[in-house]
Amino acid sequence: MDYKFAMISLGCAKNLVNSEQMLYLLDEAGCQLVSEPDGADFVIVNTCGFIDSAKSEAIDNILEMAELKKNGRLGKIIVTGCLPERYKDEISSELPEVDAFLGVGSFSDIVTAVESCMDPDGPRCCYTAFAGNSEAIDEIPRVVSTGPGWAYLRIAEGCNNFCAFCAIPYIRGRYRSRKIENIVEEAKDLASHGVKELIVIAQDITRYGTDLYGKRTLAKLCRELSEIDGIEWIRLHYLYPDQFDDELIDEIASNEKIVKYLDIPIQHINNEILKSMNRRGTGEDIRILFAKLREKIPGVVLRTSLIAGLPGESEKEFEELCDYLKEARIERVGIFPFSPEEGTPAAQMDHVDYEEAQRRADLIMELQAPIMDAFCASFVGKTVKVLCEGRDEESGLCFGRSFADSPDIDGLVYFEGDCPAGEFASVDIDEAEDGFLYGNQSGYEG
Ligand code: SF4
Repeated sequence: MDYKFAMISLGCAKNLVNSEQMLYLLDEAGCQLVSEPDGADFVIVNTCGFIDSAKSEAIDNILEMAELKKNGRLGKIIVTGCLPERYKDEISSELPEVDAFLGVGSFSDIVTAVESCMDPDGPRCCYTAFAGNSEAIDEIPRVVSTGPGWAYLRIAEGCNNFCAFCAIPYIRGRYRSRKIENIVEEAKDLASHGVKELIVIAQDITRYGTDLYGKRTLAKLCRELSEIDGIEWIRLHYLYPDQFDDELIDEIASNEKIVKYLDIPIQHINNEILKSMNRRGTGEDIRILFAKLREKIPGVVLRTSLIAGLPGESEKEFEELCDYLKEARIERVGIFPFSPEEGTPAAQMDHVDYEEAQRRADLIMELQAPIMDAFCASFVGKTVKVLCEGRDEESGLCFGRSFADSPDIDGLVYFEGDCPAGEFASVDIDEAEDGFLYGNQSGYEG
């Protein structure tokens, strides 16, 4: 098959890994990836579908492709991932412009889908494959699309937490850990291709191994990953607050390769809201955990995700959240207005309207801005290790990330220097502004 195709990958990093797996399978089949859908034989839109804004983005992209197809500038449209999975019963009739749909359990069917769509004598009807969302994870190699020097490492799929506001467990299925030897093998392969930073992801990485080995195994996995030559940074995302035990905290504190940056979504701090949202643990548990992490891991950078306007949140509960943020001074915060998702328990509960939820989210970002600015300013006069990601054409400066920056969601470090992309530099910071740091390269690291 020597078709030219384009890939539009939407949503989270876990979905990006699925896109990278489809890139590998199509490359093996002889297809050629092109940067633009215009003029391609087919396009894949790998969708997200867990909240309204993500669904709208997916549909906008699909309709844009349908316009190209109608004008004869694109061959076929293949839609994969969470949107078709969530709406598998009605999506073909809703989007007749699309030639094939693959659910979250059928990414490995991409070549068959292409063969079916591109076959002039093939079936006229739309090709669909929905293999179910709780099957064992396909161990498919990837064409890594991130970097240079870093890559996501997905260690599990699905979620059993069933937070009342979240549709992901209904889309991505039950929690399934990958075998530790498969993960380590993949990490070794990534390191052999120049990857130095692994960003460990799943819906909930703290639960890793509980299904497969009957116990939490993230600390053991981190130890094994840190023994791989070439890997210098292991960054942990999506840690569930009540799944932290002393073994994991001690491993993070003592393992030099584990980046002292922890992403721990708490969503809220009020006990009644946490309870009604089916979140395990109390506000007090979160306070104790964050204080313990700061004591046991000096200089740790905490990132969290919050939802404003959750059911049950009146001005009183919202104030409680704001007061906690002022006290906890969390360095990195992502805030989302509550979006009542059909099929979730929270959607049936009383809640403020979207405008009010958005107003509260904006207030939290205003509250957080000086906290994050002060954190950035604390780097001025220091030398930081930076993973260089390239050179900015406009300014001519190199740019990259420090340990305190995760890709696409945090800041960047701009610096005068000659560090190649994918390598580490030591940078003397002399300025901080709007979440970005500026400085001069003083050497190489690693
Ligand atoms: S932990 Fe909660 S919010 Fe996160 S994916 Fe699972 S159910 Fe959704």
